[in-house]
Amino acid sequence: VQAAANAAKDEKAYTTDGVHVEIAGNIAKVSDAPKLVEKGGEAVGLLRSEFLYETSAVFPTEAEQEQAVRDVLTTLGDRPLIVRTLDVGGDKPLPYLPLPEEENPFLGERGIRVGLDKPAVLRQQLRSLLKAADAGRLRIMFPMISSLFELTLAKEILAEEAAKLGIDMSTIEVGIMIEVPSAAVMADMLAPHVDFFSIGTNDLTQYTLAIDRGHPKLAGIADGLHPAVLRLVKMTADAARAAGKWTGVCGGLAGEKDAVPLLVGLGVEELSCSVPVIPEVKHQVRSLSKAECQELAMKAMTCTDAKQVRELMKEFHAAHE
Ligand code: PEP
Ligand code: MG
Repeated sequence: VQAAANAAKDEKAYTTDGVHVEIAGNIAKVSDAPKLVEKGGEAVGLLRSEFLYETSAVFPTEAEQEQAVRDVLTTLGDRPLIVRTLDVGGDKPLPYLPLPEEENPFLGERGIRVGLDKPAVLRQQLRSLLKAADAGRLRIMFPMISSLFELTLAKEILAEEAAKLGIDMSTIEVGIMIEVPSAAVMADMLAPHVDFFSIGTNDLTQYTLAIDRGHPKLAGIADGLHPAVLRLVKMTADAARAAGKWTGVCGGLAGEKDAVPLLVGLGVEELSCSVPVIPEVKHQVRSLSKAECQELAMKAMTCTDAKQVRELMKEFHAAHE
């Protein structure tokens, strides 16, 4: 498997019935970009920008932020790059952007809420992205969107900064993370206002099942294959498709052997996984037919819990061996 996967790592992955699934990777640093190219990644589906200067005690300058994005775009060539704006708060503290202590940080100021509360920070990052955009195929993504109101505010800020810089936004796709249940449920209302959705299954699972993703005792049962999460993935992908937009997954499920057939069956078109597993995910996609994945996903959504879905997947893999 490993040898076959590696031999075809630079080829695109098509299902046996001819459907292209884009296999992208998640990165956190400029130096991850050449590794992604080496592994055959077709795109960066998620640059977690909060990790670019993770250890810095001082705020990165606009020029530094621009240079980092420019360097990644240059390495990627014609491969698209999704940069997620700062996703700080919750489990992700940043030394240079301290936030007030909260009783429930996962339910408080995190992601886009921080950006909207500190617009100067968001504006500076957006300017750095816009200035770097001429170096490649840039896509901008907002984290933790939970309402159309937040998306509208974030897009207004982006449009204002682009206008000030005189930058044409027509070639820059703008999308959002779907990682809050309200966003998945309301995906049909959000879809007309974005170019793409990227589902963050890590947070979507924790918020859907009400289990802290890092909980020492409970995190193990916070399984993203829970039918409730799968139904939200389907709602999201259906809403995007109806509006002529595309849906990816950049949470941990995108690189999981049990999840890949289900996500493809639910209508996900891009999987952004951790860089080392890109060749294996491509290899797996090549072994699947979209039609059988759709049938499988329908079955999974009628299971009562994640355990039943895992059982279903065991049978599926056995029949495939
Ligand atoms: C997610 O929540 O699934 C996601 C991709 O974002 P992060 O893990 O960075 O919160
Ligand atoms: Mg998240």
